[in-house]
Amino acid sequence: MATKQIKPILSTILRPIQNHRIRIIRFIVQFIMFGLLNGLIFGLARSQIVLPIAFPTGGPFSTVWNAFEALQFALTTWIFPYLALSVFMLFGSILGKTTCGWVCPFGLFQDLFRLIPIKKKKVSRPTNKSLSRIGTAILIFILIMSFVIGITFFNSGTKTTFGAGKDMPYSTIDPASTLFATLYYYLQWGMQEASFGAEIGQWKFLFFLRIIIFIVVLVLITLYPRAYCRWICPTGVLLGFFSRFSIFGLRVNKNRCTSGCDSCEKSCPVQVPILTYDKEVTDKMCINCGECIDACKEGALKLTIRI
Ligand code: SF4
Ligand code: SF4
Repeated sequence: MATKQIKPILSTILRPIQNHRIRIIRFIVQFIMFGLLNGLIFGLARSQIVLPIAFPTGGPFSTVWNAFEALQFALTTWIFPYLALSVFMLFGSILGKTTCGWVCPFGLFQDLFRLIPIKKKKVSRPTNKSLSRIGTAILIFILIMSFVIGITFFNSGTKTTFGAGKDMPYSTIDPASTLFATLYYYLQWGMQEASFGAEIGQWKFLFFLRIIIFIVVLVLITLYPRAYCRWICPTGVLLGFFSRFSIFGLRVNKNRCTSGCDSCEKSCPVQVPILTYDKEVTDKMCINCGECIDACKEGALKLTIRI
């Protein structure tokens, strides 16, 4: 009798966990990765690992290199960025944007913001696609700027005229860098010390610019889940370029779909039009988070090796 009464209670308690199984596992992985990426705080050593994630190489406890920063640094120093490009190519073509869904600290930050109980907004498919061009434009602009700095460096042996952005232009405004490095240094040491010897007037201006950009991003990600990933992040754009051909990714079995159901699409944080794909979901926005798999009660979706 007692068992009969306990069973429904247990299933009521466990249902939310079962319904969000992958999301819970992903959160655990994301937090573990966040700890490892900030390993210096636990006594881990700094490594030479380069990852395609939004996390500053110069963060106070960072153990890894940011691939997009490595790419910019190589270009501005007139070195061919073979290492950074290989990282993007390798990760993108093997894992797609899995690092965005499971590893990137700024992705985790956005996922936490998604938990704020404010009604989330969606944009239409064409708008989602159009807005993603902002990220492409930022990427192209930063690459051109890095290239120009690189040529100047090659010709004159110096790039100091480019000020704080001379080594990695995007890092001067990157919200991930603001969150995980600048704010920490500022709160720890104050304006003067946190400028690392840079011209203080310029540093102050950049600091306030950073804060404004960061606040705009905060508002965006509160209203639109993963808005920064979808529309702005240059690392995401580069990974997305290679992820179309990725070996690992999402597969949909349309034979299992219930007619009229679009639970998977409704659950997707980046609004991938899953049902427009026949089998392999090769959308450049997909971060392989698995939330659509949690949402599908027919088992029509799975993350799998696609060869
Ligand atoms: S797209 Fe999002 S998850 Fe991917 S690197 Fe950029 S911020 Fe991180
Ligand atoms: S399609 Fe599925 S796996 Fe891809 S981002 Fe959307 S919910 Fe995540």
